[in-house]
Amino acid sequence: MKKNNYENICSEVDVNSIESYVPMAPDIVQTTSFHFSNYEEFIDYSSDEKNHFVYTRGSNPTIKSLENKLAELEHGEKCKVFSSGMGAISATLFTLLQAGDHLLMINTIYGEAVSFGKYLSKYGVICDRVDVDSTEEISKYIKPETKMIYFESPSSQKFEMLDLDKVVSIAKKNNIYTAIDATWASPIFQSPLDHGIDVVIHSLSKYLGGHSDSVGGCVIGKEKIVNDIFEHGHQALGSVISPFNAWLTIRGLRTLPVRMKQFDSSIRYVLDAIKDDERIEKIYHPYVSTGEQKKIADKYLTGYGSLFGLDFKDKNFDKLKIFVNSLKVVSIGVSWGGFESLALPSFKGNNEANLKERGLPISHVRLYVGLENPETIVEDLKQAMDRAYKK
Ligand SMILES: *Cc1c(COP(=O)(O)O)cnc(C)c1O
Repeated sequence: MKKNNYENICSEVDVNSIESYVPMAPDIVQTTSFHFSNYEEFIDYSSDEKNHFVYTRGSNPTIKSLENKLAELEHGEKCKVFSSGMGAISATLFTLLQAGDHLLMINTIYGEAVSFGKYLSKYGVICDRVDVDSTEEISKYIKPETKMIYFESPSSQKFEMLDLDKVVSIAKKNNIYTAIDATWASPIFQSPLDHGIDVVIHSLSKYLGGHSDSVGGCVIGKEKIVNDIFEHGHQALGSVISPFNAWLTIRGLRTLPVRMKQFDSSIRYVLDAIKDDERIEKIYHPYVSTGEQKKIADKYLTGYGSLFGLDFKDKNFDKLKIFVNSLKVVSIGVSWGGFESLALPSFKGNNEANLKERGLPISHVRLYVGLENPETIVEDLKQAMDRAYKK
């Protein structure tokens, strides 16, 4: 029997020897590690994994390509990508804070991020999450130990905005890091680094990936800060994105501006159609905000994200169930940012106290306007409201 020469067959696949090619889509470099051409190169590369390809837990060409694109989109010096938004958030807090520091979280924030902030108390980091009516009010909560102001603008759930210039000025006066989770606006509609924010975080699982098929996160900022987060938060916690998910996100970025343009137009259409409906008590979205909130939205946003919240006047749980179950185009699901419109009621039948704490009635629903025809989405919302709540 003929014996296969596995050394030759398996050790290396040189596709260039098959025929030279230039692919239209970028390569997926799906590998764990990389060859070194000699001993000296190995010594050189492995002493600086940030800037050389050694092992994919550190860096990888497909992931690097995504990082370069994200840094440029967000007007930042450097970007590090993670396997999830939470991977990026935990690595950032883990790296930039230490025992004795005070972490100040402002307004409503992605729940898991607040949980992690509070969890850091076991390492001696004290986390306060506070609600403010105006950006100036943040000053009230600054302590000598405050090391970081962490926020979202617009914020999760209530979609309230903070004045970025004022946050930066308060932080600079007190020598404090500023970190924003800017997932809602994406880099297309807001540029926090241009206003002096230190660190911008995105969940790539939402608009940036954009197709509900890959989870990821990123941190963008000054090279020195991102290198620090790479060396500690990324390398130690190991929240590494796969080259394939990085590749899917690059695919998402190619249509990001056209998708964002559509989301902006669709959300205006949907909100215009329902904002005066007498069955709705309140809508949470910068497009329908007033006063100071409206001024901040006009100053910082060049377009609107399509995630919003609403409260129905009628607080009956059974009617809320009828509304949610009557939706046909809009489906029930967590996350957002893909093609499909989504509804996510906050009340689960047993968490009224928790909602009260967050200032939300049990009739609160988070809605995401996707890429379906906006007229179809409005029709769907209206027929479900008609079924549940009499006019
Ligand atoms: C989804 C989300 C996150 C968490 O991102 P994952 O990729 O799911 O870990 C953080 N912040 C905001 C605002 C989000 O919407």
